[in-house]
Amino acid sequence: METQDNIFSNEDITVTFEPCKCIHAEKCAKELSEVFRTSVIPWINLDGIETKRIIKQIKKCPSGALQYSTNNKRKVS
Ligand code: SF4
Repeated sequence: METQDNIFSNEDITVTFEPCKCIHAEKCAKELSEVFRTSVIPWINLDGIETKRIIKQIKKCPSGALQYSTNNKRKVS
C-alpha cells in the first residue's frame, strides 16, 4: 500500500481524507476498524479488507471527508 499525507492507495482504489471536513463522528472507525484505525499510523489501512467493503464504508461518511477513486479501468463492485 502506498501512503502520502491523507492519500492512500491499494491496487484498486485511491482514498483521500480531508481532515478539515471530518466531523469526527467516527462512523468509519466504529464500523470498519480493520481499515480505519484511530491509534495507528497510517490510520487508513486499505489492505485490511476487500475493496468493495471499503467503498461501501466510504459512502457512509457523513461529512464527505473520505472520498475514493478507482485506479484504473478495473471494475470494483
Ligand atoms: S466517517 Fe467521515 S466524518 Fe466520520 S470520522 Fe470517519 S472520516 Fe470523519
